[in-house]
Amino acid sequence: MIPLAVPDLSGNESRYLQQCIDTTFVSSVGRFVDDFESAVAQVAGTTGAVATSSGTTALHLALAALRVGRGDLVVLPSYTFIASANAISMAGARPWLIDISQETWTLDPSALRAALEQDTISQDGSYVHRQTGERVAAIMPVHTLGHPADMDAIGDVARDYQLPVVADSAAALGALYKQRPIGQLATVSCLSFNGNKTITSGGGGMVLSNERGILERAEHLNTTARVGSAYLHDEAAFNYRMTNVQAAVGLAQVERLEIFLAAKARISQRYSSELFDLPGLTLFPNADWAQSAHWFSGIVIDEPAKLSGLVAALNKVGIQAREFWIPMHSQTPYRDCPIFGDLNVSSDIAQRILTLPCSTNLTDDDQGFVISQIRELW
Ligand SMILES: *Cc1c(COP(=O)(O)O)cnc(C)c1O
Repeated sequence: MIPLAVPDLSGNESRYLQQCIDTTFVSSVGRFVDDFESAVAQVAGTTGAVATSSGTTALHLALAALRVGRGDLVVLPSYTFIASANAISMAGARPWLIDISQETWTLDPSALRAALEQDTISQDGSYVHRQTGERVAAIMPVHTLGHPADMDAIGDVARDYQLPVVADSAAALGALYKQRPIGQLATVSCLSFNGNKTITSGGGGMVLSNERGILERAEHLNTTARVGSAYLHDEAAFNYRMTNVQAAVGLAQVERLEIFLAAKARISQRYSSELFDLPGLTLFPNADWAQSAHWFSGIVIDEPAKLSGLVAALNKVGIQAREFWIPMHSQTPYRDCPIFGDLNVSSDIAQRILTLPCSTNLTDDDQGFVISQIRELW
């Protein structure tokens, strides 16, 4: 089977892991955690970072650091991985689902503005959702597939409504928006280092920010809100810390980020140039202001009815190809969340995306095989 996205662990991973064992620093304290945080913060363009156990816990920690909680709404594009919505739930809040734009598959800034204009009223310095009475507490854009959202336009709305922006940047490390790195585009930005992401730490995540207060509060909440060195704590908090073992793998991975990003871009480019001529098929978005991290590669099929057959046929010849995310408004736990507009772009695109093998160590021959099989099945 040619896998969809598997890690390349052929750098310093085993050496660093051996160091964890030799020094007995296998838990949440150790030099790899600090070094991994610094290395990622540098690439992302932030002054600091707080490593966590997953992308989901990074998002939850970020929301908690911003004091998002019960009775709050967080604006979220309906088209995302369910972890974004789950993190909002874990904070005690609910997602307010808004559509994505056709051009980028990321939060539509004009729908965002319209939603706040039409469906909220100003009350005691906050904006309150008219129908439910919940306070709008934050905006969570998602850099879908590693392609940055239109963050200037989203930032304008955030400023007008005085809302913090918590970007779900899970798979977008290395992406650029108008030449700016991912950590500089939002109040807080959260990464995932799950096994299928461009760099992995086995499992893990990170909270990135340029605001010292937020980083300090995230760090505090992440270490059980302990005050001083004794067993005294000033809030109900978390232990979402990344272990030194995970960070050892993560550090070895981020050392090769540039190589991985180049491989992802090359793979995406080759699918595009060798498949674009097929009728009834389009490519993943790539706005001219964006440099995507190309987390996943794939194609978009005009005819939704063809998708499952194509997936099955590719799987049968040993190619792992898959459908992609199902929108939040179609998911059982989020079916009753407030929505704005018809969410048609989210519903439509979800039925037409086919993700294709795009591991950073995918060989030219294997990619050639995938391309030839698709052309044949077409
Ligand atoms: C991978 C991913 C996450 C979740 O990260 P985990 O580390 O699996 O918890 C969240 N949001 C998006 C957009 C992702 O792609």
